[in-house]
Amino acid sequence: MNYIVFDLEWNQPQDGKHSAERELAFEIIEIGAVKLNDDLKLVSKYQQLIRPQVYKEINWRIRKMLALKPGELSGGKSFLHAAKDFFKWCGEDPVWCTWGTQDLTELQRNMAYYGMEPLSAGPIRYMNVQKMYGVLCGNDTQSKALETAVDELQLRKDVPFHRAYSDAYYTAKVLAKIPEEIRNEHAAYDVFHLPESRRQEIHIESPEGEGLITRGYADREKLLKDPHVMTIQCGKCGGVTVKTAVRWFTPNNRIFYAAGICKEHGCIAAKLRVRKNEQDLFYGERKYNYVDEAALEELKQQRREASKKQKSK
Ligand SMILES: [Zn+2]
Repeated sequence: MNYIVFDLEWNQPQDGKHSAERELAFEIIEIGAVKLNDDLKLVSKYQQLIRPQVYKEINWRIRKMLALKPGELSGGKSFLHAAKDFFKWCGEDPVWCTWGTQDLTELQRNMAYYGMEPLSAGPIRYMNVQKMYGVLCGNDTQSKALETAVDELQLRKDVPFHRAYSDAYYTAKVLAKIPEEIRNEHAAYDVFHLPESRRQEIHIESPEGEGLITRGYADREKLLKDPHVMTIQCGKCGGVTVKTAVRWFTPNNRIFYAAGICKEHGCIAAKLRVRKNEQDLFYGERKYNYVDEAALEELKQQRREASKKQKSK
């Protein structure tokens, strides 16, 4: 298996100007990557500059950050050419790894802009090393900068930061410090392409419960009324014999909570986060977790508070 750790640099329109091409807010100008083997050892490097075709003027902040020399980018390949070359170097079915969530999305958005075949027909399972590092530090909600992680892990800084290759290189170094257990249990899913049918939906099993990424809905209300999404089931007995203990409620109209009780397996807390993908489709990220009585009581209390707040509006 190949792990491809990659990082992109992109350009965007100059300050104050509206983007000429709304479908392409960020134009990729550099791809950097390293290929790792099963033992997460570096086996190959990749670095490619890309000649801008949409925003030919490079934003001064980006120019400064990347320390680009004048004329450096005009010697790069076209995006189409570079992307094909990059995928050839990657090989078949790599495991994509990035720092954060944005690179895989921007790569696909640039590919779609140039009419390339999609990377995948549905969601892509990948490693968000930033998130995994957060889990390793015991806090997966706070996003740390790559350089912070490198400092905290006391890794040697042997190449300068902020170029695509170097960021991929340091991301790979951090990845090598993530224990296998975290790597296996905290995979991320890119939903640039959502599941197209119920059959393609993503089910994630974990020791605490289970997760679901739904297909896309043009209408948010349809998602929130779909019994397939909103009926609490017990994964352990596969049954629908779960009794509702807390009806769905939301404190903020983005995250919805509910709970049920399975006679055999206890309380199940449900959490549904409603999101919108790049194509403006709504989808749900749902989690069922087995919880104790105290957590159930807490949820009941939260529901009372949420409905009180709504009434007072
Ligand atoms: Zn059960």
